[in-house]
Amino acid sequence: MRSFVYQAQPVRVVFGSVSQVREEVERLGAQRVLLLARPRSAALVREALGPLLAAEFDGAAMHTPVEVTDRALKVLGEHDADCVVAIGGGSTTGLAKALAVRTGIAQVILPTTYAGSEVTPVLGETENGRKTTRSSPDILPETVIYDTGLTLGLPMATSVVSAINALAHAVEALYSPQANPVVDGMALDAITRIGRALPVLATDESNVDARADLLEAAWLAGTCLASVGMGLHHKLCHTLGGSFDLPHAETHTVILPHAMAYNASAAPEAMARIAEALGATDAPGAVYDLIANCGGPVSLRELGLAESDIPRAAELATGQPYPNPRELTRDGIEGLLRDAWAGTRPG
Ligand code: NAD
Repeated sequence: MRSFVYQAQPVRVVFGSVSQVREEVERLGAQRVLLLARPRSAALVREALGPLLAAEFDGAAMHTPVEVTDRALKVLGEHDADCVVAIGGGSTTGLAKALAVRTGIAQVILPTTYAGSEVTPVLGETENGRKTTRSSPDILPETVIYDTGLTLGLPMATSVVSAINALAHAVEALYSPQANPVVDGMALDAITRIGRALPVLATDESNVDARADLLEAAWLAGTCLASVGMGLHHKLCHTLGGSFDLPHAETHTVILPHAMAYNASAAPEAMARIAEALGATDAPGAVYDLIANCGGPVSLRELGLAESDIPRAAELATGQPYPNPRELTRDGIEGLLRDAWAGTRPG
């Protein structure tokens, strides 16, 4: 018998329509909403909220800078809001979480990317150029409304990198020390959906069935991220984003095949299951091909990392030990980063 602990995360998940947002806010007993949205998506929610809308804020930014949170907190206080509704990607969700952890305010999230942050109790924030991450039950949103229609306008380039960000959560869940049958099932379903939906989108960006597949995968993969510890891949991406200012989802996309190749010999069962879910025999190569065939970025060089930064990135990523299937060596990680920098296909 394998030993494990499974702790469900208490999020109410609604696959439906933005029109249900008022009902969901009322269900939480809230009456005054602060809406976090970019101007384009705000209109949809504004109409659905009707008289519950108290104020709006559109300044969310990548990696949740605390100065932006302070400005949003001021708006929240001035309008006596008792619920935050966020529509957008992981950046907008991050701002909602930052407000919730400071005030206890209820959150309703409408995701428009596949980052998965909406179902995790984790928040990454930046202050004075330093990114810190914390986890708390107060950070976890109360309700998530997934509406495929909100993702139809997501540009193909963003769709690819965001879907690979979701794929990374599922891949690392399968070789996590906390892996368990519930999470394995969610991870494999997410991988199957991403593997079949992305190539369809590459030829038809507004394919509703493919978009629905990706949104379900985002939820499942985000739930994996919320449930079990991640390994080398997530640690490397955190280092590259936090210390070298590389973009979040794009970095996940470039690193994933290389982190998988590094771990492959130490996690053969997980790799075989990932390969099967993708209809392939070699998991890292199949992920690389999926990205390349859909026009995603394959090298750290094209993301703007200087080759001379590689040794420092390897040092930072191996500075503190953390669980990973294969032992982390400074030389091994430097080699991985050199391959990722050049964009070489693993295998
Ligand atoms: P993002 O929210 O910054 O969105 C990426 C880009 O896509 C932005 O320019 C945004 O305006 C645009 N966009 C979003 N939805 C769109 C739509 N429907 N149509 C057109 N354009 C749209 O990026 P992201 O990758 O979703 O999230 C990244 C952030 O989320 C990072 O700060 C990362 O650290 C965080 N994150 C946190 C967790 C967690 O569990 N805490 C998990 C994943 C990501």
